[in-house]
Amino acid sequence: MSTASRRPLVLFSGGQDSTTCLAWALARYDHVETIGFDYGQRHRAELDCRLTLRQRLTGLQPAWARRLGDDHLLDVDVLGQLGASAMTDEIAIAMQADGLPNTFVPGRNLLFFTLAAALAYRRGLDVLVGGMSQTDYSGYPDCRDNTLKALQVALSLGIDRPLTLEAPLMWLDKAATWKLAHTLGGDALVDLVREQTHTCYLNHRHTLHAWGYGCGECPACTLRAQGHQAWMAQRRRD
Ligand code: ZN
Repeated sequence: MSTASRRPLVLFSGGQDSTTCLAWALARYDHVETIGFDYGQRHRAELDCRLTLRQRLTGLQPAWARRLGDDHLLDVDVLGQLGASAMTDEIAIAMQADGLPNTFVPGRNLLFFTLAAALAYRRGLDVLVGGMSQTDYSGYPDCRDNTLKALQVALSLGIDRPLTLEAPLMWLDKAATWKLAHTLGGDALVDLVREQTHTCYLNHRHTLHAWGYGCGECPACTLRAQGHQAWMAQRRRD
């Protein structure tokens, strides 16, 4: 099956990683749809960014405007009913005794992929694209390569259709993610990511730093800022 005939659904939160993944999919596939999840997350600014980002992406390249299809926003309040985490409640971000940060929402990505697979079935889509990364992240077990590979098999069997899970950032660190955005869309895409995507866990959008908006101190901001700094240093060397 050629790449062009496959139709992806991008898990699109409005953050840096999923925006880069959406551009990646638009560069490869003729028809791309997006899905987002509202689960009462603290960083709701991310959800508010989604539609602006979609619209601005279509302005970057005429082909991307032709290729970008429908957006779907699903309400998954049920995640909040499963118990508090620092991602959904006013709890200080910290490491837990089991070595995972308390921003970990157990089952979140498993649920997201299952819902995305159900929607893909209804919409005739056959690739799920997510911004998970094993290289440079907090060690969430549901973002790991093997978890996604196992899910690909389970979901394909469960809907009895070949479904491919793609995670273009899986082995990239944050510096390489900035670089990928530049390769895909040049300075215009980097500026869009910088100014319109939201990553900060604490929802700060007051100050525009070199790497974008955020508190500058939470784990997500720190990772994003350090990655941007490393990429800028690389660019100066190249
Ligand atoms: Zn922050």
